[in-house]
Amino acid sequence: MDKKTECEIVQDLLFGYSDDVLNAESKKLVEKHLLECKECQEKFNEIQKDIENHENNQKKQIDYLKKIRRRNAIKTILISVGIVFLIFFVFYLRKFLIVNDFMNKAKESAKSNNIYREVSKMVTDDSVAITKEWYKDGKYKLQTDIYSEKGVENFMTVYATVNSDERITIFENSKEVKIQKDEYVKMQNEEKKLKPVDSKNYNFINKLKIAFEYSIHTSTYHIGREYYVMNKIFDKNSNDEVWIDKNNGLALRKIGNEVAIKFFEGTDVIKEEIQLKSEYKHEFDTVTDEDVAVPDLTDYKIEYVSIDS
Ligand SMILES: [Zn+2]
Repeated sequence: MDKKTECEIVQDLLFGYSDDVLNAESKKLVEKHLLECKECQEKFNEIQKDIENHENNQKKQIDYLKKIRRRNAIKTILISVGIVFLIFFVFYLRKFLIVNDFMNKAKESAKSNNIYREVSKMVTDDSVAITKEWYKDGKYKLQTDIYSEKGVENFMTVYATVNSDERITIFENSKEVKIQKDEYVKMQNEEKKLKPVDSKNYNFINKLKIAFEYSIHTSTYHIGREYYVMNKIFDKNSNDEVWIDKNNGLALRKIGNEVAIKFFEGTDVIKEEIQLKSEYKHEFDTVTDEDVAVPDLTDYKIEYVSIDS
């Protein structure tokens, strides 16, 4: 075989050699020739380089496709997270606007100088304390009666005036009167403490917090007008429920964690657990001067008290 013919044969075999598909004999022939022939060696290097380039290009293309796919995946995740966040934000914003609205109304209600409030609070499962509060132009009267199967019993009636240091408490049953006059009473007689409206903590931070902590929905159940029902979201053990009057932003009902437990007589076996609740009634501009006037105390036994010494 002359050199030229051998070169042609070897060069024809080079692709097969590169792909490692030659039989042992051809492989040996190529390897032997490559060691001796510079020309074929160069040809072989060229083929190797071509194959390498081709592989590189393919790898680059695959990398590029992978990169695009990864980028799309990230984009999809970000958009999903964004949508979820947006939905939460819209829900939260809706709640915040409701809280903002009723707190502003409550603040407005608290500005009134003529307020009547009635709070009916379950004390045990079979007795209810009803506290009636009258407030007119700085004068305040609070009357607490206990309602039970035995009937109505006046617990006490309190009279006070904004910023005065005196408080008169009448115990109707025993015909006794306690007149307390001291710095402590003066603190208790601040306007914001005497006014029978809960309008404390109606600041921006608290609005944000309450909108976050509570779920809010609207109901008209059994009172004939719309109110908000608020429940704590994150505290699953809590049965806290607050009803807020849409008109004046004030509480209508609070059901708390307090429970009255009733046992079977003479045992420690629980018969019933009763959720204690408080109901509120608010009226504006119905209080008269007589409602808040201190009555004639001549028939009462008066005791003067002071914690100042
Ligand atoms: Zn050759």
